[in-house]
Order: sequence, then C-alpha cells, then structure tokens
Amino acid sequence: MDADIVVVGGGTTGPFAAISAARLGKKVVLIERFGSLGGNLTLGLNTKPSGALVGGLPLEVWDLARSVGGAGADYMALTKTGGVKIASPCDPETMKILMTRLCVDSGVQILFETFVSGPVVEDGAIKGVIVECKAGRQFIRSKVVIDCSADADIAAQANVPFVMGAGDSDVTMQPVSMYYTMTKVDIKKLAAWARTSNDIPARAIPENEADLDYGLWLTGFNNMLRSFSEEEGVKLQRDNITLKTADGLMYVNATRVLGIDIFSPVEFTAAIVECYRQIEATARFLRERVPGFENARIGQVAPVLGVRETRHVLGEYVLTGPDTIDGTYFEDSIAADVSALDIHDPKGGDVDFQGLPPYEIPYRSLVPMGVEQLLVAGRCIAADHAAHARSRNMPACMATGQAAGVAAAVAIDDGVNVRAADVSKVQNILRSLGMPLHGSDVKN
Ligand SMILES: Cc1cc2nc3c(=O)[nH]c(=O)nc-3n(C[C@H](O)[C@H](O)[C@H](O)COP(=O)(O)OP(=O)(O)OC[C@H]3O[C@@H](n4cnc5c(N)ncnc54)[C@H](O)[C@@H]3O)c2cc1C
Repeated sequence: MDADIVVVGGGTTGPFAAISAARLGKKVVLIERFGSLGGNLTLGLNTKPSGALVGGLPLEVWDLARSVGGAGADYMALTKTGGVKIASPCDPETMKILMTRLCVDSGVQILFETFVSGPVVEDGAIKGVIVECKAGRQFIRSKVVIDCSADADIAAQANVPFVMGAGDSDVTMQPVSMYYTMTKVDIKKLAAWARTSNDIPARAIPENEADLDYGLWLTGFNNMLRSFSEEEGVKLQRDNITLKTADGLMYVNATRVLGIDIFSPVEFTAAIVECYRQIEATARFLRERVPGFENARIGQVAPVLGVRETRHVLGEYVLTGPDTIDGTYFEDSIAADVSALDIHDPKGGDVDFQGLPPYEIPYRSLVPMGVEQLLVAGRCIAADHAAHARSRNMPACMATGQAAGVAAAVAIDDGVNVRAADVSKVQNILRSLGMPLHGSDVKN
C-alpha cells in the first residue's frame, strides 16, 4: 500500500490526526491493532475528557455525540482546589461508531486488527511501516508517519531518544489501572447520599435528576475504603475510587498497580491479574457499603489495561511542568488546552487533581529528534513527567492529533520535511477549524 500519511494507533488521538489530514486531501492509512477505534477513551472505558473541549475537531466530535444522545453537557466538578469545567463523559459504543464514520466519510483507510511492528528508516528518514496481520507481514510506504501509539513504539524503534516516566533510575511512572462498569445502580439514591457525605471531597452532582445520566462524578470514599480494608482484611493499592455516569451506566475507576514495566509481557499480564482481584474487592465494597449499589453487578471489565505513562520522546522542545502551570506563551503553539492537572503518584498515595488556567502546546513538542518525517501525538509527545500530568489528558491528546494531521498535510503540500513545516500555515488552518491556540483565545 502507498499512502501520503500513515497514522499508527486508532486510539484517543489517532483518529483526530487521520481525519484532519484526510480532510485536507491527503491519502491517509490509520492502523489499529484492535477491532475498533478510541483506545483508552472507548475500549479503556475511560470516556471522560478531564477538561472542556475548547474547539476544533475534538469539539465537533463531542457535539456530534451530544446530538445523538452519546454525551451530555459540560459540567463543573468541585475539587479540593476549586472548580474544573469538564466535558461530560461519552457513551463509548456511540463514540466508536461516530469516530469510524467520520474517518470513513473523510476518506481515511482504516486497517483494523493490524499491528505495526516497526518503521522502515532510510537515510535518516522514515519511509513507511511494517505491519503484521492475518495476511502475514506487509509494508506500507508513506511520506509521513504520525506515531499515536501512546507508547511511542515507532519513534523508539526509529532511534528517537526518549525518557521513561520521570526518567530516574527508580520506576517513576504513573500507575496502571483497569476500569469496569456496574449495572443496576440506583443513581438517584447514590446522588442523594453523596450530597451529604463528607467522604467525597471531589464531586459533580447535578441538581436536575435528568442530568444524572451523564453528569454524576464522585471521587473519594477514602475513609470508607480504609475501614473496609482493615475490617475485611482486603488489601487495596488505591486510596480512593472515582465513579462517573455515562448514559446512565456507572463507570468505576478503583484499581491501581504500581511499578509495572508494561513492555514486559509477564509484568503486563500480572498487572491484569491483580486488577481483576481489585475489581472483585472494590465491587464488593461498593455493594456492601455504598448506598445505591445494593443490587449492583459488574457489567463489563475493560478489555484493555489502562496505561497512564511510559515513553516521553525527546523533541525539538520538551514541554515542562512549569510551562503547563504558568501557561508559557509559545509562538508556535498548536493548541491551548484546559485539561486538569491529574497525577497519580508513582509511589502510591492520593491523586492530585486540580483545575488550572489554560496552557499552550508548541508544535516543536510533536517533532521528535533523531529521524525525519515522523511526528508524535497523544500521551507520548515531548513533555516531561510533570507536564504530562496535564498533556496526557484526552482534550490535549485529541488536540495534538488534530495538529499533527494538519502539519503533515501542510508539509507534504509544500514539499518540505515535517520538521520545517510552515507553522503559521498550520496555525491558520487550526484557527479556521475553531481551535484556540493561545491561552488568551480560550473562552470561558
Ligand atoms: C485508568 C486511566 C484513567 C484515565 N482517566 C482520564 C480521565 O478521566 N480524563 C482524561 O482526560 N484522561 C484520562 N486518562 C488519560 C487518557 O485516557 C490517555 O492519556 C489518553 O487516552 C491517551 O491517548 P492516546 O491516543 O495517546 O493513547 P490510546 O488511547 O491508548 O491509543 C493508542 C492506540 O494505539 C494502538 N496501538 C498501540 N500500539 C500499536 C501498534 N504498534 N500498532 C497498531 N496499533 C497500536 C492501541 O491499540 C490504541 O488504540 C486516563 C488514563 C488511564 C490509563
């Protein structure tokens, strides 16, 4: 197969890169190892962007989901440090279908159940990728590759330098977790109880009952969990539980495994086994101790392990923690993002979740060192461990995907390498799509 652009990974980020480039007339092949799109957003049962979607294709997709009942309205979540505006969770099944339709309608060739096993690099530039599928091993030639694999699989194999997690000798990556859903939860009873509980420090509880289907978000249960753990002799690795609703179904984020090297199949598998144990234990906790869960049952366990952090590539610019807190102005910004700061301490302990003013992501953080014609987007962009606490969130991932797709198309049209893409042209296109590029452009 020949393509202008190959996008590796059809998760949270890849479809945004693929659709953006295809709408600019490029021949795009989007390659996904599983049988549906959305990655951690859909298969991971994550569903909720931790921040508002402020424009461009991400907002278009969410509004489309809203128009078919697949997402609710934005809401304010109250946290220890103030309010955070959140785009409501989506129904993951609706989202899989919408993302696929948007790809197909824009002319993207999706290849499902196809694993990208490596890049082909000649004379310092990527020439395409090797894929493995039922038909065996094949080569797809392309002018540009966009690595949206989350783990920077292609960049790493193309000899792009990278840092794992915080980059010190200890294991300092945010932990892995596995979501599950629970059916038969009395959501009204739960909401009424949560309003008066002092064990739920972070919350969004809509006044209007009709909004409970997409708008209930509760993080806490720390004291109740501690009592359960001590009284029942059940060992848990996480101090709190997050609950959220999407289309009236309860999504539970309650598991955690620390210190996993996800590139070891043995450790990866052990983490899944441990998550299953924690899912049984926390579902029992909810049923036995939390009002509204008395008749609840586990509905679905996420078919994929949720991985928060692995490789951060080194790019033309490495976004830093202070950049994302101070909102550093970047001339080459390709997105202003309002995602919360959301960090699970790699060594354990409570989650630090804070709403902060917008910050900017420079184009240079999508351009890796060491090889030509490769861009990265999603959670593996050039951002350090502290910056990744904001940039790993889905609003940022989708926005970097969109920008990478546009930049690849602009560079191909101009006959230059992506490293030399005309950023002002990229920015003009992004602005025309309604994407705010600087903090001051973000509307409240
Ligand atoms: C448990 C958990 C809870 C989270 N909670 C939130 C939250 O509440 N709000 C929020 O905004 N963010 C949250 N995040 C973060 C956010 O979900 C992720 O950082 C984001 O979804 C990553 O997007 P991505 O596109 O980079 O990766 P993914 O969505 O993981 O997509 C990567 C895709 O690439 C595919 N792939 C990988 N390698 C290959 C290959 N070699 N060949 C072919 N395909 C490949 C994968 O199958 C996958 O579909 C959470 C993360 C976790 C793990």
